[in-house]
Amino acid sequence: MLSYVWSVLGLDKEGGGLALFLLGYLGFMAFIVFSVLFGEAEALEKTVVGWCNRFLMGGWYDAVVGVAGRLPCLGKACGAGLRAAEEECCGTPNPFMQVLYLGLVAGGYHVANIYVLSEQEAEAGLTPTSSASWGWALALLLERAVAVALLPSLVVLGLVLFALTSFSDPGTLTKQNCEAKAKAYPMDGVLYEEKDCGTCLLRRPARSKHCSVCGRCVCRFDHHCPWVNNCVGERNLKYFLLFLLVHFALCSYVSCIIVAHVRRQYHRRFDFGQGSPLGWGEWILLVLHFCFNSYPIQAVATIMTTVLAIMLGGFLGYHLRLAAINITTNEMFKFERIECYERAELEKRGGAGAAARTWLGWLGDTVSSVTHRNRVRRNMYDRGCLGNFGSIIFPA
Ligand SMILES: [Zn+2]
Ligand SMILES: [Zn+2]
Repeated sequence: MLSYVWSVLGLDKEGGGLALFLLGYLGFMAFIVFSVLFGEAEALEKTVVGWCNRFLMGGWYDAVVGVAGRLPCLGKACGAGLRAAEEECCGTPNPFMQVLYLGLVAGGYHVANIYVLSEQEAEAGLTPTSSASWGWALALLLERAVAVALLPSLVVLGLVLFALTSFSDPGTLTKQNCEAKAKAYPMDGVLYEEKDCGTCLLRRPARSKHCSVCGRCVCRFDHHCPWVNNCVGERNLKYFLLFLLVHFALCSYVSCIIVAHVRRQYHRRFDFGQGSPLGWGEWILLVLHFCFNSYPIQAVATIMTTVLAIMLGGFLGYHLRLAAINITTNEMFKFERIECYERAELEKRGGAGAAARTWLGWLGDTVSSVTHRNRVRRNMYDRGCLGNFGSIIFPA
């Protein structure tokens, strides 16, 4: 049957190798995405997934610096130069990632215009295949009308949210507002205790943190996001969540319309009628060949947008979960450090570590039955799901 596939495609056996390579490539990409999203989970820490996560999240750069530092001549200067470049890129505010984002959006939109919208337009002018009805043609017109309206709208909305997240105040702590903020964010005595910021010289309210990149204290600090070159904090978290949502929707939508378009072209070319003579393996090879030979740009674009959609979806889910229980990314790390310390203590005292294991759970359980320095640990900022989202939309 394989020879039938090759005869249809006009390919020799080397083509089969290509299809297998593409399948391997897709599997590899899926593994990378999985590692980035879940590699930090404790259960996977000591597996190849955890190792891959650490490598992708900075280990590769340390390795490059290590190798450059050992070069026979200029090794030291190379290593120092790379570290200085790292400090310049990651340690100070700079628009590099913002420009990269705008480039990706502009390039992506250009490609979508040429290879998705124009292709759809050309397709609308074709007559339906013998097995398709006029309803099919109508659905095609509708799909095109939606794409023409939805695609630019999502891009513009994404850019507006990007600007809002990038340039709005994340909730900077100032001399004028620090007293009011201290009342709005009382100390919980677990993660936060009365403390002044050594740089800003201000009394720091609970949940705030000094961002070393921006050089300021930010209320309800979540994290510093290099893509928007800004902190994400109490006042712009809502824009950040919407930014993720819109880009997740955009990438998923583009994937779907490309797949729908290429799928129709596939059926136009291989009209097997009622029963396909191909087995599963042959069918997959045929589809891969068809996609990468006839629609290479669309195929690569689909892989990219699908990978991005999965990553954005995972990131969005993670942040929505944290928002629902009113914990910031910063607090999540603090909780994890306490839990780690506590488990080590318990294990030292004799194998009771498993009891402390469950209180935080994978993404943060807010109530604890385990005591930390004899205080029952509980997230006192949790006001229930609705209240928590309310406080993100209308911050204190
Ligand atoms: Zn500060
Ligand atoms: Zn910052």
